[in-house]
Amino acid sequence: MLSSSENIEKLISELTNLPGVGKKSAGRLAYHIANVPKEKIESLVQAIKNVSENIKRCKVCYTLSDGDICNICSSDNRNKKQIMVVENERDLLAYESVGEYKGVYHVLGGALSPLTGVGPNELKIRELMARLSGDIEEVILATNSSVEGETTATYLAKLIKPLNIKVTRIASGVPVGGDIENIDEATLLTAFNGRRTL
Ligand code: ZN
Repeated sequence: MLSSSENIEKLISELTNLPGVGKKSAGRLAYHIANVPKEKIESLVQAIKNVSENIKRCKVCYTLSDGDICNICSSDNRNKKQIMVVENERDLLAYESVGEYKGVYHVLGGALSPLTGVGPNELKIRELMARLSGDIEEVILATNSSVEGETTATYLAKLIKPLNIKVTRIASGVPVGGDIENIDEATLLTAFNGRRTL
């Protein structure tokens, strides 16, 4: 499908580089962009630029943040003694949208995967262990229920248990191989509430 404009073709090709955007949706978005007032597009472009230029990693939990410390870590309303370990910031967002969890997070940046060369040093595991030297009551292992996620949870449980900190694993309400970010909120809440001590 060749469009009537090279500019639109270029935009479609850029948009199809985004995750989950196929050629059809890219076309729809491109024609939408071509038809809305310039000011609206400028504010979209600015929002994208702001994220691209100003977002950094929180120095405590390693999720994406505007400042050195993210809103969750700096909030007085969060229980700093309860840390939920997730693979990435999208999983964090999934748990935040349930709205039930009042502790803080630790974003690993992936899961252990010997096949693709992701070992403990590639993840924020040393940083997690450093946090555990403080006053921590519970570490909730909320990695995915994929092979990699389970391997990571088992690995972390072995590291953390000797520290006499309660280690829990989210329940199997999360389907095997299911990505946390794609699971509905009710299932996620069940998985969280049904977590078991390891
Ligand atoms: Zn943080």
